[in-house]
Amino acid sequence: MDIRSEFPALARTVYERPLVYFDNAATAQRPRAVLELQQRLCVEANGNIHRAVHKLSADATEAYEAGREAVRRHINAPARENVIFTSGTTAAINLVATCFSERYLRNGDGILISAAEHHSNLVPWQMACAHHGASLEVLPVDEAGEIALENLQQRLEAAKGRIKLVALAHASNVLGIINPVREVITLAHRYGIPVLLDGAQGIVHTDVDVQALDCDFYAFSGHKVYAPAGIGVLYGKSQYLNEMPPYMGGGEMIESVSFEKTTYAPLPLKYEAGTQNFVAAACMAPALETARRMAADPTLQAAEREMKSFLTEELSRIEGLRLYGTPDDPQRKIPLFSFAVEGAFAGDLAQILDKMGFAVRSGHMCAEPLLARYGQTSMLRASLAPYNTLTECEAFVAALRRAINMLR
Ligand code: PMP
Repeated sequence: MDIRSEFPALARTVYERPLVYFDNAATAQRPRAVLELQQRLCVEANGNIHRAVHKLSADATEAYEAGREAVRRHINAPARENVIFTSGTTAAINLVATCFSERYLRNGDGILISAAEHHSNLVPWQMACAHHGASLEVLPVDEAGEIALENLQQRLEAAKGRIKLVALAHASNVLGIINPVREVITLAHRYGIPVLLDGAQGIVHTDVDVQALDCDFYAFSGHKVYAPAGIGVLYGKSQYLNEMPPYMGGGEMIESVSFEKTTYAPLPLKYEAGTQNFVAAACMAPALETARRMAADPTLQAAEREMKSFLTEELSRIEGLRLYGTPDDPQRKIPLFSFAVEGAFAGDLAQILDKMGFAVRSGHMCAEPLLARYGQTSMLRASLAPYNTLTECEAFVAALRRAINMLR
């Protein structure tokens, strides 16, 4: 499969050098199938969804609902009503943090997160806890970046019913570790506690089956799985989605409105107030189709394993470089490498690398408390997609060595 030719952005140059795009965990590039559908819908079906009777509106609605069905199938959600479109992971988690807390969180309760959460799965809970007089509790991670399940059990046991929800990254955007989410969910459910998974990274690198996982909520963004930015998904179990109050009021989320009383639309529209990003939602279909095709390709899978072991070995060989997120089992690591280099500031390295054509992430990566756990304020991150190559990895390590030498 000539996968690179499907992603036109990969052919561009930056500063007259070939682009090596290693910032896929922030945003992935889009395949031609997505770009073409986006363009076609903007021209042929730019009518507001679920509203007018005219052809443009009907076509847009059909494409939007086809996007939803593609998501439903991809994550094996039981029904259309369990798939809510949002603007992204952040919006999906904020929705749950607001609505779930409104319904179930009381003074003295707690929400449990891990120490390795993205700010998007931390700040909304902090806000909800402050609002309801609850406490935000944090499960630590060890030196390798792992959460300890014994620790979780002790916490849940000691909490005696105070913890109302566990919110955990499926895979960390800094450590690249796939958390033992099945075990966490089983354990939490033993105590009657629902679990939200922040799937922003997990959806990209694992086969997500929400029914097999039995998670209560699963949130992810389109732009990390090859769809446009501005669309995201909240999967939720019907019981919670039905019991929770809606997030925003407005058009399309209602059944009937009078000045005295409003009744809400059935799921999923109850949580989709206002005009949605219907073009981006429709693009979830070709985006997820591309993701599935790449995940099923044995050559691409073998290449990814090779790139992962190459980078693990070669980065560890660089003097003064410390890699973060080192699970015992390499299969539990997504192709994402965060590290700090003694004597070379991550921001400076990223700038030099950029001039050499390498797009990598630097900074706190929206996980300040996690970086603080390791005594860092900034790291460099290289995150790969199936369209990256071993040749790019080799060039990256050589360029990184050169950049470090310039700064030391
Ligand atoms: N959680 C994780 C683990 C992430 O990696 C990201 C994106 N970096 C987010 C949440 C937020 O995603 P978005 O900005 O698309 O809402």
